[in-house]
Amino acid sequence: MDDDKKIIREHTFKTWSKQSSWEPIIVTSSRGVYFYDSNGKKYLDFSSQFVNVNLGYGNERVINAIKEQLDTLQYINPSFGAVVRAKATKALLEVMPKNLTKFFFSTSGTEANEAAVKVSRLYKKPSYKILARYRSYHGSTEASISLTGDYRRWFVEPNTMPGVVRFPEPYCFRCPLKLKYPECNLACANYVDYIIKQEKNVAAIIVEPITGTNGVIVPPKEYMPLLWKIAKENDVLFIADEVMTGWGRVGEWFAVNLWNIQPDILTTAKGASASYVPIGITAFNKEIGEFFEDHIFAHGHTFEAHPVSLAAIPAVIEEYKRLNLLSHVKVMGEYLGKRLLELKERHKSIGDIRGIGLFWAVELVKDKNNTPFGDYEDKYEGKPTVVDIISKKALEKGVYVYNGPSWLIISPPLIINKEEIDQGIETLDEVIKEADSAFKD
Ligand code: PMP
Repeated sequence: MDDDKKIIREHTFKTWSKQSSWEPIIVTSSRGVYFYDSNGKKYLDFSSQFVNVNLGYGNERVINAIKEQLDTLQYINPSFGAVVRAKATKALLEVMPKNLTKFFFSTSGTEANEAAVKVSRLYKKPSYKILARYRSYHGSTEASISLTGDYRRWFVEPNTMPGVVRFPEPYCFRCPLKLKYPECNLACANYVDYIIKQEKNVAAIIVEPITGTNGVIVPPKEYMPLLWKIAKENDVLFIADEVMTGWGRVGEWFAVNLWNIQPDILTTAKGASASYVPIGITAFNKEIGEFFEDHIFAHGHTFEAHPVSLAAIPAVIEEYKRLNLLSHVKVMGEYLGKRLLELKERHKSIGDIRGIGLFWAVELVKDKNNTPFGDYEDKYEGKPTVVDIISKKALEKGVYVYNGPSWLIISPPLIINKEEIDQGIETLDEVIKEADSAFKD
């Protein structure tokens, strides 16, 4: 195992990180909501890795569907129509918002967003501008990182994709417009109408319905319907990036269902295969689909619509249904939210608890003015924040928690039960004391 660690450490990269401090833990197996390292240590996955292992580990039905596909047809180029492609599409048509009827299959959330933007521009030509928010993450390749508004985009500046225009987010805990909800009258959304009219040539607007890696920002209830209406009135495509929020995470198939809005394009990945195989999906409305009957769909990859990836989709959808996970998430989500709010009572360094379903953030602060413990610049430039340290301590105690510079993301596999939630909460209760000690009264 030391050899494995050595070879991984020396010859592969830890992404989004300086390499010097990397000490990979060698993981050997997994089951349910747990994974195990080479010393036999057991870890509770309290974040579904990067909010993607939605069905937990070792689901036999999904594994068998993938194995069967490998035995039958492991690859055929995407201009052919593999039988599994029909099966996956049929399953998708049942759960996707009803207006989304045409799909492009890739292998990641990044690629799903690349396709969304490129196709928007082909469809809306000569309009080309894309509106995206500051606190957002849409992927790591040069177009999708250009859509990303947070610190990560600065790594590629000035070589970003032209035509991205940014707008502020509904982050009420620290409102970028220094306003208070509801008196603000959703100024952050209304401002978008003004931006579109000033910018002209806007092809699309892209948002995470609930912001993910930037801190699980659940918008006020009127926000998304208003933003959607503004896009519609201005004839701008509305792209919902549901890479993280899709597939039961918020107690609905997709977060847009929470507000009953129909995006023109929806991108997703992660939970679409519950991460048993890589998959990305870009779903388009009928009009966009029809447009390409006599326009070139100028996009594609060798691994697009890969039969083995596609095999996971109907199997996973069947599991979400068989295990009644949408209801389960609502019940467990309420319980998790309640337990997290109890933590807030006990820890002065917890500034905010927010979330929905099994998608929550614990935002930590270092004083009464809600000053964050650090930002993405600290994190990426190799200065771990108190929150990074808390995550590390939790891992030492056998609980994996994904974190941003000043928040923890609590998003366990959707199959989690109350006892497992209690285990995670107990560990958080212990490790957050570290932040309480750093809190300045
Ligand atoms: N969009 C969102 C909202 C995401 O959370 C992520 C990944 N965290 C991506 C896009 C990119 O997905 P991937 O890592 O699969 O390329």
